[in-house]
Amino acid sequence: MKIDEVLRRNFPIISEDYRKFALDKDKCRKCSMYSHYEQVGQSEGNAKDPTFMFIGEALGEEEVKQNRPFIGRAGQRLRAELRKYPEVFRRDTVLISNVLACRPPNNKFPAGDHSKIAETCCNLWVRREIKMLKPKVVVTLGNPALKYIRDDWGITANRGQWKFLHLYRSWSLATFHPSYVIRSENSGKKFVVDQFEADIEKIATTWRSMIDGDYRMSLSEEEWQQQLVVEELIKMGV
Ligand code: SF4
Repeated sequence: MKIDEVLRRNFPIISEDYRKFALDKDKCRKCSMYSHYEQVGQSEGNAKDPTFMFIGEALGEEEVKQNRPFIGRAGQRLRAELRKYPEVFRRDTVLISNVLACRPPNNKFPAGDHSKIAETCCNLWVRREIKMLKPKVVVTLGNPALKYIRDDWGITANRGQWKFLHLYRSWSLATFHPSYVIRSENSGKKFVVDQFEADIEKIATTWRSMIDGDYRMSLSEEEWQQQLVVEELIKMGV
């Protein structure tokens, strides 16, 4: 599919800066992942000023074919959960993205010796995407997003907990990847399903109180940069 058509279909709202970013991303041939897919994967949703950004792992087979994130079985599970809160999660409030923009061979997320690939891809794309769009809430889905976006590890210990991300000036909540939720549904681990559903409900019902109660969210960009300098000086004991 031509990139212009992908952008038109995936993004009901898009800024000019984001369009340039997405066109650059389409041309990325930076690592060995490129040979395993047909086109670099794009995000979907509000690409100008989303309130929520959901970040998964990487595109699956169906997602690559259509160049749309989270439209396979896992995506349908996530979208079904979001549809329970139509006043909160909408196409104009949400952006869905992935840690890795290309589909890894055999759906195996690069780890060990290959983890540099994910680090490089994150620096090039998803971290810049968060900084550019400044979502108020970043939701990480599964362990890779937890690691590369929140710098935490261990989804069971971290899920369901709000954390303020200084790097992005966003609040973040971690939950399970929906593909794990599906596997858990099929293997009788109902508590995983319950926790995933509770996490999404928690975001929908408490996100505003997190944002409204936090003075950092209302600072101008200049004030925020000054605040970061002060925090750095305090850390250094100056
Ligand atoms: S995985 Fe990321 S860094 Fe590698 S080619 Fe794809 S977009 Fe570029």
